[in-house]
Amino acid sequence: MDLSCDVCVIGLGFAGIAAVRHLRSEGVNVIAIEAKGRVGGRACTMQLDTGEMLECGAQWLHGTEGNPLYDFAKTYDLLKPPNARNAAAAGPGRFFRAHGKAEFRNEEGEAEPHQRVELVNKVWQRLSDEASDAKRAAALPADLSLEDAAQTYNQEILQKDPASAGVIGWFSRLQEAIEGNPLADISAHHYATFEDLSGPNVRVWGGMQTLAQRIFDDIDIDQSNVLLGTGVTRIRYDADEGGGCVVEALRQCEPSPPYWCVPREGETTEQTDDGRDQDEEAGHRVVIKCRVVIVTVGLGVLKAAHSSLFDPPLPEWKRRAIEAGGIGVVDKLFVRCSPSSVDGHSPSHARRINWTRPLPRADGGSQGDDWTAGIYAFDPILPAVPSTSLLMTSWLVGPCASQLEKRAVRQPTDVMHEYCRAFSKATGDEWTPGDGAKSVSLLCTQWGEDECFRGSYSYLSVRWEGQGGCVCDVLGRAVGERGNKVLFAGEATNRRHYATVHGAYESGVREAAKAMDVLKSIVMRQ
Ligand SMILES: Cc1cc2nc3c(=O)[nH]c(=O)nc-3n(C[C@H](O)[C@H](O)[C@H](O)COP(=O)(O)OP(=O)(O)OC[C@H]3O[C@@H](n4cnc5c(N)ncnc54)[C@H](O)[C@@H]3O)c2cc1C
Repeated sequence: MDLSCDVCVIGLGFAGIAAVRHLRSEGVNVIAIEAKGRVGGRACTMQLDTGEMLECGAQWLHGTEGNPLYDFAKTYDLLKPPNARNAAAAGPGRFFRAHGKAEFRNEEGEAEPHQRVELVNKVWQRLSDEASDAKRAAALPADLSLEDAAQTYNQEILQKDPASAGVIGWFSRLQEAIEGNPLADISAHHYATFEDLSGPNVRVWGGMQTLAQRIFDDIDIDQSNVLLGTGVTRIRYDADEGGGCVVEALRQCEPSPPYWCVPREGETTEQTDDGRDQDEEAGHRVVIKCRVVIVTVGLGVLKAAHSSLFDPPLPEWKRRAIEAGGIGVVDKLFVRCSPSSVDGHSPSHARRINWTRPLPRADGGSQGDDWTAGIYAFDPILPAVPSTSLLMTSWLVGPCASQLEKRAVRQPTDVMHEYCRAFSKATGDEWTPGDGAKSVSLLCTQWGEDECFRGSYSYLSVRWEGQGGCVCDVLGRAVGERGNKVLFAGEATNRRHYATVHGAYESGVREAAKAMDVLKSIVMRQ
C-alpha cells in the first residue's frame, strides 16, 4: 500500500492524539499510525465482566489547573466516581467505607506505631521539599542520586527511632513508584525540573483509555488515514523524492495487549509467551511519503529500536540522549484473593494495607530475586457487585517488576500463591488465590516486556548529568533538514511535565505547531 500525506504521526498515545487533533484542526493532511489495535498507549483500561474497571497504566490526572486532559474529562463527563452503594450492601464490599485509612503493618503483620510513620513522613517531606527547591537542587553535585540524598535524612530518622527501617523502606518504595525507578539512578540535582500543576490528583473514573478514545473520536479525520495495528519499521529521512520522508510500516494481525491475564476456565489466555504474530509475511507492507514525521513512541521503544528504525542513523547527540535518558518499569498486579473462612472477614481485610518490609539493598543482590519484596501496598479494588472474594492490586517497580512480568507469564499459579502468602502475612489471616471460575484471577501488566512500550514512564537519570541541559529538551529536538524533518513528541520530551498524560498531550500540541511551521516554510520556498 503506497500512501502520501503532509504529516505522518507515529503512535496514538496522548502525544500522538494531541498532534493529530491540532493538525487536523488546521486542515493538515495527516496519516496516523499505531502499532496496537487501539488508541491510548500507556492509558489502558480493562473492564472485567464482574464490573470492576482496572487501570493497567495511567490512573490519575496530576493537577487540574491548566491540565488540558482534566478539561476534556469534565466535558466528556468521565470524572464521576462509580456508585458503590449497592456493592457495599453485602460481602467484603461493606468494609470499603474504611478505605483510605491505610494501615502500616510490618513483615510479621504487626501494626507499626503511628508515631514512627509520622516521624518518617515528616523527615521525608522535608527531603521532598528541599529536593524540589530549584535553587537548592542546582547547588547539589551533578551526579548525586535521590538515594544518596536520602541517606542523611534516613540516618536522622534511625538515630531517633532505630526500629524504623521498615517504614523508611515503605517511603522509598512509594517514591520509587512515583518516580518510576529505584532512587539510585534518579538525579537529585535535576529533581526540581518537574513542575506540579495546581489542584488535586483526580481519577478518571470513566477510564483513562476511554478519555483517549473520546478525544480521538471527536477529531475530524478520514478513517482511511488512521492505521491501527500497524507498526512502523523504518523512517527514512534522507529520501530524495521531493525532499520528504518515507515511513515504512507493517500492518499486523491482532497485536497483544500490554498485560497478561489468567482467564476463566474454558477461555483462551489474553496473551501467551509466543502469542504475537510478528511474522513479516503475515503483515501487509505500507509505505507513506510525507513532508514531516512526528515520532511519539516512548523512550523505551527508541532505546530498543532507534538503530534499526532510522535511516540514516540518528545523529550522535540524539543517540546519547536516548541512551542516557531514564525510563523505568512500573507494573500493576491484580490478584483475586479469597479468605479461608467467611467469618475471617474484618474491616482490615478490605482496607489498604501498607507493608513495611525492610527494603532489600541493591548491593545485597536480592533486589528482583524475590519480587514480593517490592510490594509496598495491598489495595482492594472497589467491587461492582457484592462478592465473597477481594480483587487486590499492588504496584511493583524496577527489578522486582521485571522479574514479576516474566514469572506471571511462565508461572502464574506460583505468582498468585506467592502474592496470597505475602497478603496473608501482612493481614495476619489466611488468603488463597481465585474465586472459583468467576472471573479473572490474575492480571499482570507487561510494560517492560511489551515491545510497543519497553518501559512505563521516564525519569531524569544521573547518567545524563554533565552532558548539558535537560535530557528532555534534547529528546524533543528535531532531526533532518528543512525539507525532511523528523519531530519528536511524547512524555519523555516534556521537561516540565514528563511521565504524565498531560505532559504527553502538551508535547503533541507543541510538535504539531512545529510541523505547521515546517509546512509553511516549505510553501514559502516554493
Ligand atoms: C503503570 C503506569 C502508571 C501510570 N500512571 C500515571 C498516572 O497516574 N498519571 C499520569 O499522568 N501518567 C501516568 N503514567 C504515565 C502515562 O501513562 C504516560 O506518560 C503517557 O501515557 C505517555 O503517552 P505518550 O503518548 O507519550 O506515549 P505512549 O502512550 O506510549 O504512546 C506511544 C504509542 O506509540 C505506539 N508505538 C510504539 N512503537 C510503535 C511503532 N513501531 N509503530 C507505531 N506505533 C508504535 C505505542 O503502541 C503507543 O500507543 C503511567 C504509566 C504507566 C505505565
